[in-house]
Amino acid sequence: MKYANSGDGPTFSVIDIGLDGKVAVLEADTGFWAIVDNSSIGEVLSGEVIEKFLEEEQTLKKEMDFFRFGLKPSAVYFNPTEKCNFNCPYCYIPESIRKYGESMAYDKMEEAIEKLLHYFRSHLPEGVKPQLIFHGSEPMISKDDIFRAIDKFEKDFHFGIQTNGSLLEEKDIKFLKEKGVGIGLSLDAHEEEIADSLRHSWSGKGSFRHILKVISLLSDYPAFNVITTVTNENVSLLPQMVDFYGDHGVRMVMFNPVRCTQEGGKKRKPDDEVMARFFCEALDRTQEVRIKKGVKITVVNFANVLAGILGPTTRRLMCDISPCGGGRCFFAVSARGDVFPCSEFIGFPKFSGGNLFTDSIENILKSEPFSAVTGRKVEDIAPCNRCAIRHFCGAPCPAEVNSLGGTLLAPSPYCKFYEEQVRYGFRVIARGEELNYLWDGWSEETEESYNFY
Ligand code: SF4
Ligand code: SF4
Repeated sequence: MKYANSGDGPTFSVIDIGLDGKVAVLEADTGFWAIVDNSSIGEVLSGEVIEKFLEEEQTLKKEMDFFRFGLKPSAVYFNPTEKCNFNCPYCYIPESIRKYGESMAYDKMEEAIEKLLHYFRSHLPEGVKPQLIFHGSEPMISKDDIFRAIDKFEKDFHFGIQTNGSLLEEKDIKFLKEKGVGIGLSLDAHEEEIADSLRHSWSGKGSFRHILKVISLLSDYPAFNVITTVTNENVSLLPQMVDFYGDHGVRMVMFNPVRCTQEGGKKRKPDDEVMARFFCEALDRTQEVRIKKGVKITVVNFANVLAGILGPTTRRLMCDISPCGGGRCFFAVSARGDVFPCSEFIGFPKFSGGNLFTDSIENILKSEPFSAVTGRKVEDIAPCNRCAIRHFCGAPCPAEVNSLGGTLLAPSPYCKFYEEQVRYGFRVIARGEELNYLWDGWSEETEESYNFY
C-alpha cells in the first residue's frame, strides 16, 4: 500500500477551490490534480490511486520538464522604432527613449530579419514558420518599412503587430488583413473621457473615437485581440468593459495587470486582491454575455492559466510558467539591434545579451543576462518553492520583480491574483465549463495524453 505525504509516497497538496464539498488535490511538480469530494480525500491519497500516479509520474515529469527547459526560440518581438506618439504613464519603456529615440532604417531592418530567419531555420522543423511581432514603443510610426518587410518576408514568418491603433488607417487594416497579420490593439476603458485620460499623446490628446473605428473594421478578423492594461485607475471597470467588448465585436481580450517595471507602473499597480475580485467579476460577466447575447468573449490571459491546469503544454502564452518564455521561447530586438530576453527588459541595458548586428544569436542566447532570466525557476524562490500552484503561475514577471526588489528571485507582486485565477479555474473545471472560457480551437489543437479515470 502506498500513501501520499508519508514515507516514500508522493507529496500532494489539498487546495480550497471555493466550492462546497469539493477540493482539488494536486502534485505540484507534475501539475497532476484531481477534484474530489471532501469525504473521499483519504481514499484518493492512498492505495490504488497513488500506485497509478507513481506509474505515470516519470512520463508526466518528463513532459513538464521538456516544456520548462527543452524548448528553443520560435518567435521574436521586433521593435522597429524607439519612438512613440503616445505617452502612456505606465509604459515599460523609459520616457526619454520613447520621446527622443531612434528608428531602424529599412536596410538594417532587412538585414536583421534575414539574420533572424537564418537562426530560426537552423532549428525549426521544415515548414514551421517562426513568428515575428512588431512591438513597441509604437511600431506603426515605421509602418512603411514594416509593410515593405511583411511583403518581402511573408512566406517566411507569421507576422503580428502590437499597436496603440492611433496611426492605423483603413488602407493599413486592409493590407494587414490581406497578409494575415495578427493585430493586437491597446484600449484601457470603455468611455471616451476615461480612455483618453489613461492613454494619450504627448500633448494629452487621446484617440478613443479613432480606436472605435479601428475596432469596427477589425471585428470580423479572427487574428485580432485587444489588450487592456489594468491599473488602479481602471480595475473596477473590467466587468463593464466585457459588456463593451461584447457590443463592439471584440472576441479575444487580455486584462493584463500593469507590470511594475518602471515608476509609472509601480505607482499605478492595482491592489492584488482588488485586481483578483474585479477580474473574476469580469470572467463571470463573460458568461452572462454568452448566455444573454450568444457572444463568446475569451479573456486570453485567464484562458492560458486554465489551459495550463488542463495540460501544461496546451498554453499559448509563456508568462505563467517558470522559467518564463523570455529568452528561451522568444526574445526581443530593440531598434538599435540590442537583444533582450523580453521587451519588458528593454529599459534595462544590463539585461542586453548582445547586438544582433555584431554578435551571433547563439552566443546572445548563452550570455549571462539571458542565462539569469532563463535560469529563473520557482524552485529557487520563496514562497513559490512550497506553493502547490507554482507551475500554473510561474511567479511572473522577472523584469518587474527585479525592478521592484533588485533580484530575480522574488515572487510575483500579483501572487494573490494568480491564486484566485487558479481557484476560479478549478471551479470552472469542476462544473465542466472549461470550453466556455478557452479560445475556440483549444480542443482540436490539444491531444489528451493522460486521464486518470
Ligand atoms: S507568486 Fe504566489 S501563486 Fe505564484 S508561484 Fe509564487 S507563491 Fe505561488
Ligand atoms: S514573465 Fe515578463 S519577462 Fe517573462 S515573458 Fe512574461 S513579460 Fe516577458
